[in-house]
Amino acid sequence: AGTYVVSGSASGIGQAVADRLRTDGHTVIGVDLRDAEIIADLSSESGRREAVAAVLERSGGRLDGAVLAAGLGPAKGRERLIAEVNVLGVTDLLEGLRSALAATGNAKVVVIGSNSTTTTPLVPRRAVRRLRDGDLDRAVRQIRRRIGLSAPVAYAASKLAVSMWCREHAVADEWAGAGIRLNVIAPGPVLTPLLRAQLDSDTGKQVRSFPVPIRQYGTPGQFADWIALMLSPSADFLVGGVIMIDGGTDALLRPDAW
Ligand code: NAD
Repeated sequence: AGTYVVSGSASGIGQAVADRLRTDGHTVIGVDLRDAEIIADLSSESGRREAVAAVLERSGGRLDGAVLAAGLGPAKGRERLIAEVNVLGVTDLLEGLRSALAATGNAKVVVIGSNSTTTTPLVPRRAVRRLRDGDLDRAVRQIRRRIGLSAPVAYAASKLAVSMWCREHAVADEWAGAGIRLNVIAPGPVLTPLLRAQLDSDTGKQVRSFPVPIRQYGTPGQFADWIALMLSPSADFLVGGVIMIDGGTDALLRPDAW
């Protein structure tokens, strides 16, 4: 049995993963705003620092893996918060926990990305690079210029930035070289409180019109299974992967992408 940190463990996909790992006999250190072993607000630098310190203390500086599932969906006016939680809430945590992941020799990290990365139009690439590099002020200013689209663009940009950060770091000496397998899982729509809130909002009609060829939404339990596989020895050779599990939307919109 191993020790795993799961951010966003109080709801949706993170909760399903945490339940699954506990059922399999592992120790889970959940991090969330509520109902978790560690209560922390990942939207602020101090919250992220406190979360890292608390995880290191609780784990004794040794982690078999990490699942970064805390995240915010697209909502108008939340562009800055989305960038803080979806990008820095992942990258700052992983930087802070890297030595504990390296300590076990073959740790696995799964970051929850999104298929919005390849299905959202008009995402400014420069803003994505700025988010990845931690220049949130200028990135968010640029994103807010996409009048009427700033929420979906902020969300997609945050997931693009975090996915790029993961691929870049996955292959570095400090990560792959230390036996840490860093990968991204990119879901399409999954029926969680996050998606419910979108379906119930004034953009619900647009959300419902998002084409999913298989004509159903994913479930948190399915993602818990995929993520458990990505944390298992079966995934020892998976490094820097972005695993798209989305009912066919990406293939529908980008049939020529390899
Ligand atoms: P959810 O809202 O059910 O769960 C997200 C969790 O993150 C919540 O428990 C919330 O409290 C926590 N969180 C949010 N802000 C936080 C903060 N500042 N500090 C600490 N914790 C915070 O959402 P979900 O659908 O399970 O989403 C999980 C991940 O999957 C997110 O990264 C989301 O972007 C991604 N995702 C979801 C879908 C979907 O359709 N549900 C699709 C693609 C990607």
